[in-house]
Amino acid sequence: MAILPIVTVPDPLLKTISSPVESVDDELRKLMDDMLETMYAAPGIGLAAVQVGRPIRVLVMDLSEDEDNPDPKYYVNPVLTWTSEDLATYNEGCLSVPEQYADIDRPAECKITFLDYYGNEQHIHATGLFSTCIQHEMDHLNGIVFIDYLSSLKKSMAVRKVKKLVREG
Ligand code: ZN
Repeated sequence: MAILPIVTVPDPLLKTISSPVESVDDELRKLMDDMLETMYAAPGIGLAAVQVGRPIRVLVMDLSEDEDNPDPKYYVNPVLTWTSEDLATYNEGCLSVPEQYADIDRPAECKITFLDYYGNEQHIHATGLFSTCIQHEMDHLNGIVFIDYLSSLKKSMAVRKVKKLVREG
């Protein structure tokens, strides 16, 4: 496995609409393994392929927050099939927007259809942090970063801080 460089704002790649994956093969599984290692090293709880420079519809997540009991999840070509009317607010962050956080409202629950690590179709009903996280990650596949939901002033402040962080290494 390898740790991949993470793309940060305002890189235009993050605005790319990611392409569907044609088949879940060993090459894709290697990318998903590398994405997972990159996410754990960061550390983070979710990562979209576009964040490591590959604009394809693939996500990895692990909400266990426990190094000794990892719970890696892989989502290929995820499709949102239902969202609740109820909203939930979480203080979100993003590996592509390091050290910036903001409260974001999203549907509290959602249903998703996707292919798993082995290419099998799966359906899930996500609630709580899981629901927020997967919607945040799926936004990346559509070129949306969480700071896009903020006012233009707050968004430009966040981008400026990230540019400074990256410049200072
Ligand atoms: Zn993110």
